[in-house]
Amino acid sequence: MGYNVAIDGPAGAGKSTIAKLVAKEKGYIYVDTGAMYRGMAIHFLKKGVDPDDREAVAEACTDADVSIGYENGVQQVYLNGENVTSMLRTEEVGNMASRTSAVPAVREKLLELQRSLAAEKDVIMDGRDIGTNILPNADVKIYLTASVETRAKRRYDELVEKGEKCSLEEIARDIRERDERDMTRETAPLKQAEDAVLVDSSNMSIQEVVDTICSYCRQGEAK
Ligand code: C5P
Repeated sequence: MGYNVAIDGPAGAGKSTIAKLVAKEKGYIYVDTGAMYRGMAIHFLKKGVDPDDREAVAEACTDADVSIGYENGVQQVYLNGENVTSMLRTEEVGNMASRTSAVPAVREKLLELQRSLAAEKDVIMDGRDIGTNILPNADVKIYLTASVETRAKRRYDELVEKGEKCSLEEIARDIRERDERDMTRETAPLKQAEDAVLVDSSNMSIQEVVDTICSYCRQGEAK
């Protein structure tokens, strides 16, 4: 059985940035479960599935196979054998993932993949329902959050740095919508597990957050 750290929280709280740094410091494998939902989303986009048609989404799951691998320590996502990693991080894919992740058939499809990775290796796994649903017996559970304003500003700065035009108000609205969808869905909604440590990063530096989380975690074996 691997040593398991679960890190859940809303969109834009910095989970992946923080989890990657903790993984490096502690020698864990970083597992990004959002990327798996994004891999499924690419399948739905390719097939032209309407995300609001839950039956069509469930039906389209039957010919989707998402798996992951690592290249130079970086997680890769494969959809029916094709490496789709470079296509995952667009707004279109994120939106489709956010909508379709509420469908139970989509979640069931990814559950075993997530559990089997955690069973084999020392992992830090980030997502929305890792501590509550996927790994209820995780050794450490963190609920990482930040105010909507902070999360929107971080995302805005990131996009501006990439030279993309964007509006802070639109980003904040999008974040509020995603929070609402993730927290109110029937299947595995986003919430803090009872035994999770709450870390609010609104007024913390990245290093402070990493140090706080590392203080709860033991050293791992993967290098
Ligand atoms: O974290 P990321 O933005 O990549 O996740 C994409 C979408 O996948 C989220 O908006 C969320 O709805 C969904 N998700 C989920 N459960 C997870 C990870 C992600 O429902 N464990």
